[in-house]
Amino acid sequence: MTIIDGKQLSITLKQHMKEDVLYYKRIYSRLPKLTVILVGDDAGSQSYVRGKEKASLEIGILNETIALPEIIEEETLLNLINKLNNDETVDGILVQLPLPEHIDKTRVLERIRFDKDVDGFHPVNVAALWQKKSCIVPCTPKGIITLLKSANIQIAGKNAVIMGRSEIVGLPTAKLLLDQDASVTIVHSKTENLKKITSQADILIVAIGRPRYVTGEFIKEGAVVIDVGVNRDPQTNKLCGDCDFESCVTKASYITKVPGGVGPMTICCLLQNTLEAYLNHMEEKYD
Ligand code: NAP
Repeated sequence: MTIIDGKQLSITLKQHMKEDVLYYKRIYSRLPKLTVILVGDDAGSQSYVRGKEKASLEIGILNETIALPEIIEEETLLNLINKLNNDETVDGILVQLPLPEHIDKTRVLERIRFDKDVDGFHPVNVAALWQKKSCIVPCTPKGIITLLKSANIQIAGKNAVIMGRSEIVGLPTAKLLLDQDASVTIVHSKTENLKKITSQADILIVAIGRPRYVTGEFIKEGAVVIDVGVNRDPQTNKLCGDCDFESCVTKASYITKVPGGVGPMTICCLLQNTLEAYLNHMEEKYD
């Protein structure tokens, strides 16, 4: 059994990106920039934003976090996005989710210029992904594929089951796995005979947001298991995944851990997307 170490892989990839940032700075005379908008004072969101800030700075990407009060009006937020859309020094704009209930998330995400949408949530990017056109690919699904490839796991022809059908994880991951020629099944909270389906998976991607829900019984002997979940264990209050690692590890051939698996890869892919957006902007400018 092998643990696929997302933390170590992200360190290696960040080192390469750091060299790329230096190289392109010499060519284009400016650094890439990511602007993160944080609304409210949710502790979880603040911690995610700090992680993104730290990782950006580590590799030389400029990072600005704009913190706004919970009571901000939607129109004010939209106007700020308009301003950032028109700011030539900003390559990536990310609005940290969740947003307060009085703000229409869809309206906000759609306001971000699609070529600065480093999360890959804008409808133009979503449509392009499903049409197999060039686009900004959502960070977590991109990180999952990068993890599988880093471990030289064969995807083509394999039976991949994805637990969860969210627009940010389950659905785009299904599409990326299909593009790699896997046979893909998506299961969700209404699926009947869940274990029967998951236990046929060669590759099982778990993204359901239920602490330690998936046990060894869900898993085929020798399967590859990618745990996307980030939860607090109700008993210990420690960070844990959607898989019960101790029982899953006895069945899996490859498995990721929480923390240290998909999480660091998500941040790494955010940096890759920002760098990609910057290069597109620079190429347009100097074309
Ligand atoms: P979400 O929007 O809440 O979606 C959860 C999905 O899981 C839904 O499709 C739901 O089905 C399904 N589900 C819930 N309980 C289930 C069960 N018992 N059996 C089968 N399916 C079930 O969550 P998300 O945003 O995709 O996130 C999923 C998890 O990944 C969370 O723990 C989140 O914190 C984590 N996450 C981690 C990263 C990272 O970077 N590591 C990034 C994003 C998310 P229905 O559609 O029927 O409701």
